[in-house]
Amino acid sequence: MHAAGAVRRWLSAPRGVVVLALLTLGVALVSSVVGYEIARHSDEKLWNEQRLALRNATSEIRTMFAHGRDIDPRFVRMIEHSARLKDLKFEIAPGEGDREIQPVLDGEGRIAGFFTWEKIAPTTAAMRALAPYIAVLLIVLMAFAGYSLWHLKRAARDLSETEAMARRAADQDKLTGMPNHAKMVELLDLALAERAPGETTTFAVFELDGMADVTANFGVLGSDELIVAVADRIREAAPPEAICGRIGSDEFAMLLTTADGADIDAMVAAIIESIGRPHWFDTVVRVSAHAGFAQAPHHAATRGELTRRAELALRAAAGKGPGSRVAFDAPLDKVSTDQKFIQRELPRAVSANELELHYQPIISAHGGRIVGVEALLRWTHAQRGPIGPAVFIPIAEQMGLMDTIGAFVLRRALREAKRWPDLYVAVNLSPLQVRDGSIVEVVRAALVDSGVPPSRLMLEITEGVLVDNPDEMVRRIEDLHALGVRVALDDFGSGYSNLGYLQRFPLDKLKIDRSFVTALGATANGGVIIQAIVALGRALGLSILVEGVETEQQRVLLRLAGCDEMQGYLFAKPAPAAAVDRLLAQQKQSGGKLIPDTVNAPALAG
Ligand code: C2E
Ligand code: MG
Ligand code: MG
Repeated sequence: MHAAGAVRRWLSAPRGVVVLALLTLGVALVSSVVGYEIARHSDEKLWNEQRLALRNATSEIRTMFAHGRDIDPRFVRMIEHSARLKDLKFEIAPGEGDREIQPVLDGEGRIAGFFTWEKIAPTTAAMRALAPYIAVLLIVLMAFAGYSLWHLKRAARDLSETEAMARRAADQDKLTGMPNHAKMVELLDLALAERAPGETTTFAVFELDGMADVTANFGVLGSDELIVAVADRIREAAPPEAICGRIGSDEFAMLLTTADGADIDAMVAAIIESIGRPHWFDTVVRVSAHAGFAQAPHHAATRGELTRRAELALRAAAGKGPGSRVAFDAPLDKVSTDQKFIQRELPRAVSANELELHYQPIISAHGGRIVGVEALLRWTHAQRGPIGPAVFIPIAEQMGLMDTIGAFVLRRALREAKRWPDLYVAVNLSPLQVRDGSIVEVVRAALVDSGVPPSRLMLEITEGVLVDNPDEMVRRIEDLHALGVRVALDDFGSGYSNLGYLQRFPLDKLKIDRSFVTALGATANGGVIIQAIVALGRALGLSILVEGVETEQQRVLLRLAGCDEMQGYLFAKPAPAAAVDRLLAQQKQSGGKLIPDTVNAPALAG
C-alpha cells in the first residue's frame, strides 16, 4: 500500500515524466535495432531463394540453348515472378550500373548472356523509408525529455521554496511575525545545548494585563493591533541578541544567553516599562504586563524545568499585580507543591465542614459606628495551619468546588447575621458564581431559609467578571436587585480600573482597593486619585467604602476625601462571630461609636 503509493507519487512527479520519456526512447531504439536485424535476415533469406530460383532457371535456359532455342521473354517474366525479382532482364552485354548480375551459360558452358535485376531488399527498404519518421520521433522524444527535465528542475525549485515558506509559517506567529511557541521551544533547546561554561541562558515570560478590557472596548481587530504594537515594543526594548517570541495570545517570551552576572532583572524591567507606555491609536490605549523568568544553569538544567520555573515565577508576578516581575526562587517551587496539597485536601475539608467564616467590621466614616460586616472565608488545616482564601479560592474554582463553598458562605453568613440585626452583611461572590445564572436562585433560597431581610445582604463582585460579558452581567445584577439585595464592586482600582463600568452597571457601592490607601502617604497624588474616585462615585449615586485602612492618618485623610465607610485593621481584623459580638458590646458601652472622631483613636484590631 505504502510502496504503491510511493510509486504513484513518484510517477506523478515531473521526474516520472522524464523517466517515462527516456524509457519510450530506449524501447524505440531497441525495437529499431531489433527490427533492422530481423529485416536484414529476412532480406538475406529472400536473396538466397532468389539465387536458387535463378540457378534452376539457368539450367532450364541451358537446356533451351541446347535445343537451339532463343530465350522466350515470357520465360524471363515467369522467373521474375517466381523468384520475386524486380525488373529481371536477359542481356547479352549488360551496362554499368547498380544492378545485380548473374551470367547465363549455354549448352557448352560458355557465357550466353546475363540476367540483371534491380537489387532491392524489401524490408531494409521499408526500414529506410521509416527511418526519417523514427528520427523525427526520436527528436520529439528527446525534446520532450529535455522539457521534462527543465520542468522537473523548476518544480523542484518551487517545491523547495514552498517548503521553506511552509516551514517559516509553521515557526512563526502570524500576527507579529515573531517565533511562535513551538519555535521558541526549539530555540531554547538549541540555546541550552550551545550554552558555554560561564554563560547563563534566561527564559523570561511576559503576560499582558488588561487585554480583556482592550478587546471589550476596541474589538478583536483593535486588540490585534495592540498585540502587534506590543511585539514591536518588546523587540525594541530587548537586547539585540535576545530572541523574542509570542507563545500565547497574551504571552510573550524572551530567550537570551549572556555572560554570567548580566543584569537580566533590569532588562526584564525595561521591557515591562516599554509595554506599559501609552499606545496611540485613535485614542490612548494602555496595557501593562508582568513577567517571570528562570535561568539555566542556576535554576534549571533542562528545558522542561526552565520553562516550568519561568511559568511559576510568572504566576507569582501575576499575584503581585500588573507591572511586577519575579525571578524564579526555590520557595516558588514550594508554592506549586502547596497547590497540589490544596488540591488534595480541599475536597475533604469542604465535606468535613472545616471551612469557617470570619467577619470584619465595616465602619461608618461619619459616626464611627459599625454598620456592617464582611464575611471572609477561613480554612485552618490541622497540620498546615491557616490557608488564606486568596490561595484556596482560585483552586476551588478550578476544581468546581465553588458552587458548594459559595452556597455554604451565603447560608452561614445569613444565619450568623441574625445576631446583628442592625448590621448588613457583605458576602464575596467569586467570578464563577456570578457568571453562573443559578446564583440568583441560590441567593433567594438562602434569604428565604434565613429569614434575613434582603436589604441587609450586600453581594461583592469584582471588576474582572464584568468585562467578559457586560450585557449579561447587567441583567444578572438587575436580577439580584430584584430580590432586594445590594451589589458592591470590590477591589475597585486593582485591575482593569475602567471608570466606564461605574456608569454601565447598576451598582450600589464601590469598595476602593487597599492599594490606593497604601499610596495615600507614599505618593503625592495618592489622595487626589481617591478624591477623584469618590467624587465620581458620588456623582453616580454610589456609596464609597475604602478597604485596608491601617493607620489613623489614613483614616483622617480618607474622611476628608469624603468616603462613606471604611474597613481595615485600624478598626478590626477579620475574626469569628463572637468577636463581633464583643465589639458591638464595646461600642454600646462607649456611646455608640467604635472609633471616636479624634486623632488618637484606639486600635481595636486583634
Ligand atoms: P476582599 O474581599 O477584598 O477582602 C478583604 C481582604 O483584605 C481580606 O483578606 C482582609 O482580611 C484583608 N484586609 C482587611 N483589612 C485589611 C487591612 O487593613 N490591611 C490588610 N493588609 N489587609 C486587610 P482575606 O480574608 O485574606 O481575603 C482575601 C480575598 O479572598 C478577599 O478579598 C476576597 O476576594 C476573597 N474571599 C474571602 N472570602 C471569600 C468568600 O467567602 N467567597 C469568595 N468568593 N471570596 C472570598
Ligand atoms: Mg470583599
Ligand atoms: Mg476587597
